Amino acid sequence: MPDERGRYGAFGGRYVPETLMFALDQLEAAHKSALQDTAFQQELALLQRQYVGRPTPLYFAGRLTEHLGGARIYFKREDLAHTGAHKINNALGQCLLAKSMGKPRIIAETGAGQHGVATATAAALLGLECEVYMGSEDMERQRLNVFRMELLGARVIPVVSGSKTLKDAINEALRDWAANVERTHYVLGTVHGPHPFPVICREFQSIIGKEARSQILELEGRLPDLMIACVGGGSNALGLFNEFLQEDSIDFIGVEAGGKAITPGMHAARFAGGTLGMLQGAMSYVLQDENGLIGKTHSISAGLDYASVGPQHAWLYESGRVAYTHASDRETLDAFQLCSRLEGILPALESAHAIAEVMKRAPELSCDKLIVMNMSGRGDKDVEQAARFILTGEEP
Ligand SMILES: *Cc1c(COP(=O)(O)O)cnc(C)c1O
Repeated sequence: MPDERGRYGAFGGRYVPETLMFALDQLEAAHKSALQDTAFQQELALLQRQYVGRPTPLYFAGRLTEHLGGARIYFKREDLAHTGAHKINNALGQCLLAKSMGKPRIIAETGAGQHGVATATAAALLGLECEVYMGSEDMERQRLNVFRMELLGARVIPVVSGSKTLKDAINEALRDWAANVERTHYVLGTVHGPHPFPVICREFQSIIGKEARSQILELEGRLPDLMIACVGGGSNALGLFNEFLQEDSIDFIGVEAGGKAITPGMHAARFAGGTLGMLQGAMSYVLQDENGLIGKTHSISAGLDYASVGPQHAWLYESGRVAYTHASDRETLDAFQLCSRLEGILPALESAHAIAEVMKRAPELSCDKLIVMNMSGRGDKDVEQAARFILTGEEP
């Protein structure tokens, strides 16, 4: 847990206009009481079961294990959750929280559209108004997700300021929230942003690790040796890791987007070129230049393509509890194909970063070791993107 100001050492905190302080305090109080409220917890558990499809399986990837010839590999199958990724866990939890606060209107920001779709889905389920801010560039690139959100009853608001992408959409969402906080809840999509968002999102995602713990104990009779997840903002990784961080016997690896190369503008590996900075209302590692100007990023996968990372990850990095590495676009594309062919599972390109790391680690470990990897989402959304590189032979 962070301290009472929401800080993990030098990271985290609340760097927002005064008008939002009240909303953040109110949210923190509502979250605390929801954690104690059995009616809230029962409703959440029921929807997780009936609607999201939880628990998601912990699957033994036998063919990949055999192929790599080392540690036994398990996938936590968040790709099988409703809407195809872990994001629904947080979106549903926060929409329920909004309802419990008596707020009928939801806003969200989205880059590639995944978080927008998850939020629009949860809002439809609970009968809440939903408006999603999206950069006009991103809307152009992700037209199908825009239509998906509209089908779900959400209104997508184009953001034409700045670079017309995710960070501009976040600014607009925060501005809307400040102006309409009485009846509006802002569903932030990952373990970032001003306190208490990083804690709230982590708690709603920690169902992943709670399930994985009892599943691996049932299947193998012991805890894993190594856990691996991709890290964009960092919510699927903390969702899996959080339940196990106290276990000294377990190693953790977070995999960032290595892009084309670790040179400015060609990647999104914040721990391989980032420095301390403030973005999205919190202190963390940020890809920026000497003047604090936010750096350009690149990744084959939209969900990992962001200049900053959740503050708890920055703290876990500095304390050495979690090791961070990166997978390049090329390694990711190879992992995407290998997993599809050997396991009959098309992984999201985000998750394929974690698979690329499994491919490096598993052969170095003996066959009595256990790896649990988070399959954060399914890859149907990425087939067209993958085809562009695979069929044309173009280098990613
Ligand atoms: C959004 C997304 C991610 C990255 O977000 P985190 O907060 O780091 O989990 C990873 N995988 C999938 C499938 C996603 O949609």
